[in-house]
Amino acid sequence: MARYTDPVCRLCRREGVKLYLKGHRCYTPKCPIERRAFPPGASAPQRRKLSEYALHLREKQKARRIYGVLERQFQNTFDKASRSKGVTGTVLLQMLERRLDNVVFRMGIASSRPEGRQMVRHGHFEVNGKKVNIPSYLVRVGDVVAVRQGSRSLILFKDRAEEARVRATPDWLQLEPEAMRATVLRIPERAEVDTALQENLVVEHYSR
Ligand code: SF4
Repeated sequence: MARYTDPVCRLCRREGVKLYLKGHRCYTPKCPIERRAFPPGASAPQRRKLSEYALHLREKQKARRIYGVLERQFQNTFDKASRSKGVTGTVLLQMLERRLDNVVFRMGIASSRPEGRQMVRHGHFEVNGKKVNIPSYLVRVGDVVAVRQGSRSLILFKDRAEEARVRATPDWLQLEPEAMRATVLRIPERAEVDTALQENLVVEHYSR
């Protein structure tokens, strides 16, 4: 399965904002964007005025990078969103939020979406009692996402469950940290998605 393997901090510098791809490090002064908030490879910390096309493109790239989705899969997700009832940009965001790797991150078990993706790929999670190791799996209302029995005794998950107790969980998830599981109460509303994205620009990009 194809995935991005180059240094992820370059992606933040390219977009000019923190995308929070490295967990705890993103919240420390070690975050490279604190010191070099200009695109990688640029000789001077200057940004040119972007054309309308570039603005749309950058927002689409930012969305892809925040959720860790490659171009083809992102395009497919957009196509599904555009065929659904509702506002395309909002449905797109909701579909991205419903990805299993994002849910694991929102539960507070993973410190970042890339880590959530890795945990899922390594088979540490189940949905409704069945092992699921597909990060792009879309959860539905009523689904119960949990750390699998065999993984619950791992120090990593015990520590993360402790941290999850004090971390804010979105209202559309009902977290039970001691059981290392969460129930999907509803599809998130736009106001509940705190990702700093202008999804209308992403729609504009694909509507050219
Ligand atoms: Fe982005 Fe985190 Fe790297 Fe900072 S530390 S540049 S927020 S991935």
